[in-house]
Amino acid sequence: MTILSVTDLDVRYGQFRAVRGVSFDLQKGEVVALIGANGAGKTTLLRALAGANRIHAGSVHLHGADITASPSHQRVAAGLALVPEGRRLFLDMTVTENLMLGRTAGRPGDWTVERVFETFPNLIKRRHAATGTMSGGEQQATAIGRALMSNPDVLILDEVSLGLSPLVVDQVYASLGGLLKTGTTVILVEQDLSRAMAVADRVICMLEGRVQLDSRTAATSREAITRAYFGTAPQGEHA
Ligand code: ATP
Repeated sequence: MTILSVTDLDVRYGQFRAVRGVSFDLQKGEVVALIGANGAGKTTLLRALAGANRIHAGSVHLHGADITASPSHQRVAAGLALVPEGRRLFLDMTVTENLMLGRTAGRPGDWTVERVFETFPNLIKRRHAATGTMSGGEQQATAIGRALMSNPDVLILDEVSLGLSPLVVDQVYASLGGLLKTGTTVILVEQDLSRAMAVADRVICMLEGRVQLDSRTAATSREAITRAYFGTAPQGEHA
């Protein structure tokens, strides 16, 4: 069942087309890794899906409803949640307070503070701590938990690894593992190709604002993704 449909999307900064004619459909329960070099347009695309960047042309449909021009809060209410790059938490509020904010923006559903703590057990002992005093990994888990509290059908994660040590990234992904099996549809930006291929059913690689490769993970190879990433043709072909 198609849950999110993106058609011929164009997003611009002034005259500069950061996202160019991007189209893809997401099926319920798919986990998609969005990859691409710095500046490829990944964050711009995710922010456009979430309503944080204005869409210049094309359309976005969620559950068949056109949300292309909807403000962010309406998209959250319709079931789409973004965990932004840099997390954007309220640092003087506690973990629980940050999580409850996700609830006010969202819609009814199964996610509760307790369920977030089951998913991210490292947060339990920190539940009354001011978020600003916590480690990067704990803050990232809180940011993901806050998005989950809105009961999204589509969860968008922009660079969950950014600024975290490899050990902490392992912990965040280990916690995410359980979530990824719950049938939530996920788009995640991940710079580490091995990690992206390990968690995702499908890989979409962007190059200079366009989709260069869109494939089921099992049907592609590291080499093909690397070529798409750098925009190089396979041996014997000309770009
Ligand atoms: P990164 O991995 O570095 O975050 P990205 O793939 O997410 O890269 P974007 O951040 O979406 O890429 O940037 C896409 C292009 O748009 C880049 O050329 C970038 O310089 C440009 N860009 C991004 N934000 C702005 C902005 N606010 N104003 C003007 N240009 C921007």
